[in-house]
Amino acid sequence: MLIDKREFLKAIAIGSLANTGVSFAMPYQPSDSHPGERVLVIGAGLAGLAAASELQSEGYEVVVIEARDRIGGRVWTSKLWKDIPLDLGASWIHGVRKNPLTALADKIKARRLETFYDLAAIYHADGTSLSGKELQLFERMRSRISDVLERAQDRNNDLSLREAVEPLLREFPPDAMERRFIQFILNSDYEQEYSGSSAKLSTHWLEHDEEFEGGDVLFASGFGIIPELLANGLEIKLGQVVQEIQWNNSPVRVITQDSRYEADYVVVSVPLGVLKDGKVRFTPSLPRDKREAITKLGMGVLNKCYLRFEEPFWPKDVDWLEYIADQPGSWTEWVSLWRVAQQPVLLGFNAADRGREIDVLSDEAIVASAMETLRSIFGESIPEPIGFQVTRWGQDPFALGSYSFNAVGSTPEMRDTLAESLEDRLFFAGEATNSAYFGTAHGALLSGLQAAKQILDI
Ligand SMILES: Cc1cc2nc3c(=O)[nH]c(=O)nc-3n(C[C@H](O)[C@H](O)[C@H](O)COP(=O)(O)OP(=O)(O)OC[C@H]3O[C@@H](n4cnc5c(N)ncnc54)[C@H](O)[C@@H]3O)c2cc1C
Repeated sequence: MLIDKREFLKAIAIGSLANTGVSFAMPYQPSDSHPGERVLVIGAGLAGLAAASELQSEGYEVVVIEARDRIGGRVWTSKLWKDIPLDLGASWIHGVRKNPLTALADKIKARRLETFYDLAAIYHADGTSLSGKELQLFERMRSRISDVLERAQDRNNDLSLREAVEPLLREFPPDAMERRFIQFILNSDYEQEYSGSSAKLSTHWLEHDEEFEGGDVLFASGFGIIPELLANGLEIKLGQVVQEIQWNNSPVRVITQDSRYEADYVVVSVPLGVLKDGKVRFTPSLPRDKREAITKLGMGVLNKCYLRFEEPFWPKDVDWLEYIADQPGSWTEWVSLWRVAQQPVLLGFNAADRGREIDVLSDEAIVASAMETLRSIFGESIPEPIGFQVTRWGQDPFALGSYSFNAVGSTPEMRDTLAESLEDRLFFAGEATNSAYFGTAHGALLSGLQAAKQILDI
């Protein structure tokens, strides 16, 4: 999830620890309070690993089954460039105060780097910076959008963000600066944060999530150290693609491409995108309300493109470069790794519809498109990158999207429905099941602890 820049404009909702009631006990000292009770956890992302480690520490016999040949899921630190670990999935702990990820990072004394949203440069499509007057106009458009959203939230029927803002857009001629600012804000403030298209984001439930207070930090050695920590001491079977879960009787049977597993309890932590795709068959099929939640909640896309240069040609004292593109939503947000990490690396984002377009482009086309944007800001003479790394989360078969969002037609209660256990045998975790902190790494972690608690409470 990207940042919420609006936090500078309004008081943010302060999250609690989601009342999990579960203490996160580490390092693990297995107790023998549940000898012989077997748990299978499907998915070795933060949710699955948190559930597994909690249950193992309570004495359950736990096995984690993971489709990929690595752990971490949507937390994935690339070590391709030996001197610069890069996060291809989650990068930031968003809101460090009371965030359970902070406690884990403290435990291993992980070095963290704070980025600041107000260390930003904002550019027109031709590379000129916004003047003082233009910045005022920009903020005026932002507050007009807030007003529009407030009114839309009072309506009985839910509108998409795009539908709600359309009348405001129509107030201005096609080439007006106001229009470009509005399109930029829709992408930068909402689509980049929630990963869903403005044509699908629900206005009723747009800012229904909660946040932790405090700044946002990156991991100097990559976010991957958190799943590694959680996985410590767990039995994890990699390369096992779950195809079917037979949950009508005890023990529950889980069938992969080449093996069968049985357990008293199964925790399903595969992403919403995978559930939507139906590649994991449930026998019997899931109850209607769960299927409805899977269908109606949205799964969005946020893609990253890292470009490495010999040296920075962009301002060295900013963390964020913002680009008010002619083509709405294209390369609007960039992060510079220079100030925080002294690395001449830029990270460009594409979210929602533009993120999905990126999914199907070749590496060369993605880099060429990114470079075209950078040239329009910094001029034709900037050098070619000496390296790049790109993501295609929408096409990743074990994610099928980046994270979930509240789509028109969905309700926050649907996430609770998704999180409900079935017959005290089948349990659900994953960021999409967390109605307070969906779309985040901490939301995933807390959902795993919540599923563990449900099993502990039986
Ligand atoms: C580009 C991007 C940037 C992000 N940035 C941030 C950020 O800065 N801060 C933040 O807090 N959050 C961020 N997030 C969101 C965060 O990464 C996720 O919310 C979180 O990692 C999800 O964890 P999870 O355990 O729910 O799911 P996952 O990590 O996806 O774990 C699910 C696991 O299930 C496995 N699986 C899938 N299908 C099968 C199958 N059939 N059989 C067996 N296993 C299967 C998957 O391989 C995966 O390992 C970002 C996400 C992306 C994609």
